[in-house]
Amino acid sequence: MEDCIFCKIIKGEIPSKRFYEDDLMIVIEDISPKAVKHYLAIPKKHYKLFSDMSDSDAEELGACIKKIGDIAPSLGLENGFRFIINQGDDAEQTVFHLHMHLIGGQKLYSCDYRNHD
Ligand code: AMP
Ligand code: ZN
Repeated sequence: MEDCIFCKIIKGEIPSKRFYEDDLMIVIEDISPKAVKHYLAIPKKHYKLFSDMSDSDAEELGACIKKIGDIAPSLGLENGFRFIINQGDDAEQTVFHLHMHLIGGQKLYSCDYRNHD
């Protein structure tokens, strides 16, 4: 956790553009956007993997997801968005602190948002 880049962002040790924050999560801009709008919703609690959560953790995550639905229009995602959690090697997870990608602001034609050629 000490070396976790998202824990450092949450603590303010690494700068980020924050679009939303509450006691459970922050929403920041992805540093390498894959669409016109690309945000990361990052729970403040450090979970390495999506599948690490307990039942009560899952309740907290549910609250985060509900909030994302509420604030999506204020993020410029009123026409829709893709909601992605990458877990593990096959999904090419690169940061091992659970986060949700919110991708939109345009028509999303490819089902692989990384757009490998
Ligand atoms: P994933 O591949 O699902 O683990 O996603 C990690 C995401 O974090 C990638 O889309 C990166 O572009 C993004 N990312 C890495 N470092 C930063 C940072 N300092 N600020 C914002 N986004 C970042
Ligand atoms: Zn972390």
